[in-house]
Amino acid sequence: MTVLVGRAIQLLRGESGVFVVSNEAFDPQSSAEYTLYHLDKDAVPFLLAYVQESMQPSTLHPLLVETIPPEIARQLGLAEEVVEGQGIECCSLALYDEAGPLGILYFLRLATRRSCFERYSDDEDADQSALHLFTAQLAGSLRFALHSQSLVKEQGRLAAIFEYSTEGILTVDNALRIIDFNPAMERLTGWREEEVLGQFYIKVLRPKDRQGNDLGLHDSAVLQAFAGQEVVNREMVISARDGQRFTVAVTVSCVRSARGEPMNGILNVHDLTRELQQEEQRSTFISVISHELQTPIAIIKGYASTLARADARFDSQTLRSRLVAIEEEADRLNKLVGNLLYASRIQAHGLQMDITTLDLDNLIRSMARRLRAKHPEVKIELAVPPHLPAVMADRERIEEVLQNLLDNAVKYSPGKPEITVACYVTGEEVIVSIIDAGMGISLREQEQIFDRFHRVGEPLSQSTPGAGLGLYICKAIIEAHGGRIWVESTLRQGSTFSFSLPREEKAPLPMVVF
Ligand code: ADP
Repeated sequence: MTVLVGRAIQLLRGESGVFVVSNEAFDPQSSAEYTLYHLDKDAVPFLLAYVQESMQPSTLHPLLVETIPPEIARQLGLAEEVVEGQGIECCSLALYDEAGPLGILYFLRLATRRSCFERYSDDEDADQSALHLFTAQLAGSLRFALHSQSLVKEQGRLAAIFEYSTEGILTVDNALRIIDFNPAMERLTGWREEEVLGQFYIKVLRPKDRQGNDLGLHDSAVLQAFAGQEVVNREMVISARDGQRFTVAVTVSCVRSARGEPMNGILNVHDLTRELQQEEQRSTFISVISHELQTPIAIIKGYASTLARADARFDSQTLRSRLVAIEEEADRLNKLVGNLLYASRIQAHGLQMDITTLDLDNLIRSMARRLRAKHPEVKIELAVPPHLPAVMADRERIEEVLQNLLDNAVKYSPGKPEITVACYVTGEEVIVSIIDAGMGISLREQEQIFDRFHRVGEPLSQSTPGAGLGLYICKAIIEAHGGRIWVESTLRQGSTFSFSLPREEKAPLPMVVF
């Protein structure tokens, strides 16, 4: 564009100028565009303000020429000697072609100069037709250049969509070979674009249906789209480079030649892992909660209605044991509802904590006493070093964490539970470990037990009351203290749950944390 505008201004004997694209010629985004030639960008508003007031050329008079007043020339940044000397002309040339107005070329030249299109003053007709011819040629070339420019921009926009899209985009040619593979696709599959270009897309993605059957050429979503079928959000399982499989929804669009033959297939690949996990979580939530609510309600109702029978007589011991069972089940319900509220509060706005100096040794000893009183069959040992440094923590919340971990150690230890609570001191923190010799947790499950509603599939775990919220809450509490919580476990040998808290002297001053 600049070269073209520059050449046109030179042919018109101008020194500098600007081509302003007409509003009607292009879409609003490009309407404000102009191309400069040897003109300072800051001078453009002055020039346009001047010409728009005084000189608007038309098809009939495409070229208007006017000598500009010296003060305008100075505002346009022209050298003093030029302004003082020959004088400066401002010319406006309207550019039209058969498609309509294209814009106006404004240029400045020395007052004595005339272009070859204006020189023959004795033959005005020849003059005009030469100028019209030049204008038409220039308009045609500029329109073409503007189109190319907007195509380049469009291409840039499309490339940005392709590059930054969070959805995987993969393009294949009509032989189903990969010709584009965007960064989201690279992240999804672990393949790099240069490794898969030219490869058969089925070989790279290894698609399967949800039952695990290979989707070969016969079931190719791309071939179906080529054949005119609609392929929208088709669920399939694809494999990453490392063999890991995940479910995706694929939409295929077909690009056809002018004769309607398929040229390219564009696959939009949407990773469904998260949605599926959420769906699973929702259904687990419903089944866990309904089970956890129904069981104590059924027990309470059963005992209460037996006790309420008019014809029944109970000795005081039976009566007491039934009432204790009712109380325990009511406690269980209360705890569940409390945990549900707790979890939803964590999700909605985090936890508010009142952090002060906490003597962990004292807290652990009093909790161990309570546990012994409640479960005399449990063997609990303490391995707390003398002079355990104080930590910065919210006493009530840490008590909840310890209670949850101790309850779990008891719940998930078949037979007579044996538990050790050990403390270790590092330079920065105090680490508390609750060690049991219970059922243990497989490596795969260890990754998920801190998630909401996750319960291990083992029979003992399934038959033990619980909603899979305790560890989720523990994690939220410990992390809100700036600590960590983790598990080390061997299946059928036992588990060690540990958490860390900052030592008093290493932590900030007492505070309220959200
Ligand atoms: P729940 O209320 O189900 O006990 P948690 O969040 O406390 O919920 O624990 C999640 C799951 O982790 C439990 O259902 C259980 O399967 C497993 N788990 C927790 N603690 C232990 C442990 N000490 N030993 C074995 N499994 C455990």
